[in-house]
Amino acid sequence: MTVLEQLKFFAKTQRTALVDRQETVSYRELDARSDAFARWLLDTLGEDRSPVVICGDKETGFLSCVFGALKAGRAYVPIDSVVPEDRAAQIVADVAPKVIVDFTGRELDAGAKVLAPADLEGIFAVPGSVPPESWVGPEDPAYILFTSGSTGRPKGVPITAGNLDAFCAGLLPWYPEEGGTVLHQVSYSFDVSGCAVYAGISRGMTLFTVDHRMAADLRELFGCLRESGLTLWVSTPSFAELCIQSGAFAQELIPHLRQFLFCGEVLTHTLCDALAERFPAAQVLNTYGPTEATVLVTAAEITDEMRKDSRPIPIGGAIDGVTLALGEPGREIAGEEETGELLILGPTVGPGYFGRPDLTEKAFFTHPESGLRGYRTGDLCYRKNGLYYYCGRVDNQLKLNGYRIEIEDVEANLQKLPNVQRAAVVPVRDADQKVQYLAAFLLLREADGLTSLKRSIQLKKQAAAYLPAYMIPRKLIVVESFPLNVNGKIDKKALAASLEEGAP
Ligand code: AMP
Repeated sequence: MTVLEQLKFFAKTQRTALVDRQETVSYRELDARSDAFARWLLDTLGEDRSPVVICGDKETGFLSCVFGALKAGRAYVPIDSVVPEDRAAQIVADVAPKVIVDFTGRELDAGAKVLAPADLEGIFAVPGSVPPESWVGPEDPAYILFTSGSTGRPKGVPITAGNLDAFCAGLLPWYPEEGGTVLHQVSYSFDVSGCAVYAGISRGMTLFTVDHRMAADLRELFGCLRESGLTLWVSTPSFAELCIQSGAFAQELIPHLRQFLFCGEVLTHTLCDALAERFPAAQVLNTYGPTEATVLVTAAEITDEMRKDSRPIPIGGAIDGVTLALGEPGREIAGEEETGELLILGPTVGPGYFGRPDLTEKAFFTHPESGLRGYRTGDLCYRKNGLYYYCGRVDNQLKLNGYRIEIEDVEANLQKLPNVQRAAVVPVRDADQKVQYLAAFLLLREADGLTSLKRSIQLKKQAAAYLPAYMIPRKLIVVESFPLNVNGKIDKKALAASLEEGAP
């Protein structure tokens, strides 16, 4: 069954779909509100198929709009409230929506009809229905997520309803049989949210909402967690690392918790050990996947043996329906423990990049022997005893606190600042190779006479017009000139080394 069929099924029960600080939304209400929104979209848009943009955080209406768009056969494009206006405007310009749902009150002049929360309430209040024939079909895009792009402009990744069905079919065998409460903390604009929004709703679970404000205030978060009845934790490892810094984050706080599901970045031994101690009744799953292949494609239950092993924590084996290979399409590596680029094949691989056939051609392919659709991940892995181990990237993409960032994206946007002529950004890693923060080396157009503290404050403020906070480098260092390597390119190794030496 598709997620929309499952939503209809659970709408006939008394179950709760979503809870947040103020509101509880039942499956019946979620179904009715999304029907009403779908009806309105069909009546308003007619034949127009442009995607629906939804700007916000975790407002309760967000989920109704997501399912409403899908029921109207339209893709939705989530834009998180932390995305600055300039970047949001680029996404809107690319997508050219006719309808924007805006929970943030931001200025988006896009020639589209903008729905404020009050308008939405009015739409939800008018009962409507749509026939299943109007729903997104397997080949239709269900959402388009915009991730960091190396040109400095975010790139769109459409995922079809068929991709989502395949993802749910692969993940659900790892979930408890039925019911329970799942953490809904991951932003809608990050596909790991699909573990709650798609897999969770397909299982009739209750989504326990944690918005940006609550995520930033552990005291409030823990207060709410105590009452939550949470059974399944879904987040990046970084968010759990933040929580575990407090001694209160333990089984007694969340007594019903049975599973942690991590995705999006390296899961460290340190975190696994801490969770084994604090949450003896909970299983830990490590999963891995890129946006382009629908949320996640591998899973492993972390055993005591894996925790004691000197190898990294494995990302696991392929979930049902997914095929993995290493190396070049058609010339795969067969040997155990041989490192190569991870290739994902099968029905979770998306159609390519939105409006970018050039990028699509580079990263997506049809496998020469099997005919399966494939995606080159850019991730280096090796395989041992049926499990895959992640060992880094082939390019400059990185994860910082779970956020996917292309270094060139940060550099291109820093170069938009009025007094920045050239920017070179390097990641600073800890002993586990996890990125701790970004450092930017800047060549200014003219001397500004400011102290480094004042300059840093000024530049970060200017950068906030173009970059979300998580992409703004923590350290900004002005240089007179850049060191060059033998190819005449900026020598980033030398820049990184200068940081280690405490210079400049
Ligand atoms: P995103 O598209 O934001 O989901 O980011 C995908 C990238 O995150 C992958 O290509 C990997 O580089 C990284 N990633 C995701 N999950 C894991 C994991 N469990 N371990 C290591 N890296 C991961």
